[in-house]
Amino acid sequence: MNEQARIEKNSVIKEHGKETRIRHASMRPVVVEMKLDLKCLNKTEQEKLWHYFTQCRWLCNYLISLDADAFKSFDTKTRDITSLDKDGNPVDRQLTIPAKFIQSVYSSIKQDVASLAAKRKKTGKKNGKLKFRSEYSSIELNQYGNTHWICYGDDGNRNGKYRDTVHISGIKRPIRVFGMEQIPKDAEFANAKLIKRPSGIYLMLTCYIPKHERDVKLEDKPAIGLDFGIKTTITTSEGEKFDITVREPERLKGLQKKLARQKKDSRGWYDTKQLIRREYEKLANRRRAKANQAYHDITKGRKLIVIQDENIRGWHKGLFGRQVQNSALGTLKSKLVSNPNVLVIGRFFPSTKMCPGCGVINEGITLSDRIFTCGCGYAEDRDVKAAKTLLLAGEHELSCTHAEHTGPPEERTSGFHTSYEIWKQSARRPGKGKSPEAPSSKL
Ligand SMILES: [Zn+2]
Repeated sequence: MNEQARIEKNSVIKEHGKETRIRHASMRPVVVEMKLDLKCLNKTEQEKLWHYFTQCRWLCNYLISLDADAFKSFDTKTRDITSLDKDGNPVDRQLTIPAKFIQSVYSSIKQDVASLAAKRKKTGKKNGKLKFRSEYSSIELNQYGNTHWICYGDDGNRNGKYRDTVHISGIKRPIRVFGMEQIPKDAEFANAKLIKRPSGIYLMLTCYIPKHERDVKLEDKPAIGLDFGIKTTITTSEGEKFDITVREPERLKGLQKKLARQKKDSRGWYDTKQLIRREYEKLANRRRAKANQAYHDITKGRKLIVIQDENIRGWHKGLFGRQVQNSALGTLKSKLVSNPNVLVIGRFFPSTKMCPGCGVINEGITLSDRIFTCGCGYAEDRDVKAAKTLLLAGEHELSCTHAEHTGPPEERTSGFHTSYEIWKQSARRPGKGKSPEAPSSKL
């Protein structure tokens, strides 16, 4: 190709990319995760694919080891690099990965270096260099049609031969993938990532789908309060309890015992270690699924959900480490917090102690009291009560902001509202109402 043709080709590519970006801006991106069926590859091809991750790691560490000038003038056509082996001795390596991958590793490290420098400029502090990586588990496939492409359903396949496969640059044979049915209708495929996990290699494919007005009418449900606890995990103000604990399987314990007995760095030790990694991956998946299910059940159709800013990380460190780790509480909370219909009440609000009926704070309530009783005659399950108190607090907050905009604040006569206002005033003053609530008060 002569110079003229090359320039012309590049400008066509540039123009095309611009069009695509404009089109995608008006669409909705969806990421679909699919597992590669490596069994359809022969052994050489399988090893080649796994080796992509190793080579990317070599390259990444080589680039990090270069000084600033050498890094700047790095030529992405370079194939011969040196990397350090396990004992720190330099070894010459030959890269056989497709050029696109070399470019993408280089540009991602360039980005990391730039953001590190920007941070240094902003804070004026000397921050460290990029760290060497012992693992490279995510390869960017940034150009659909070049680094990867998909044969989905009946399109582009010969008599169904290539149905539901992905082509990865450098691997001749198309690879079957599981989970193509997740791809939404009218999707346009874009960039993707290859992810290495203990259970195999996955493809995270970004698809763009047309933006539709959501015409699904959700039924309106009343506002709800949520109490996070250890024993039942989540209690709603309507009295419903969600248990989102996922216990560690017995198999995991067995494997850990086995590992402890085996000789470190032996073949069997590595095999067991791999099995343990897979168990942890499965466990994390189950937890995420449970958190998603509960999130859906709780938020669907609700315009207002009130939660308290619980210090779940503090629970992790304190008494309840294992119990909290077994639940998907942290995941669920962060999902809830980013939902615009969720109102978060301050961490130190005494939702367990304050009576929703009269507003009196009952200091006497202890861990063993499962039923909350108050002098005013109010009695209720303690978790349900806490959720109800939170809901009242949330509604109070909302009506106050509303009143501020429309007219003079309403005269509040109920004991609860007065009590809540008093708490808020005291919490605002520095040094007061700031003492961290002991985790035990939540049980
Ligand atoms: Zn009361």
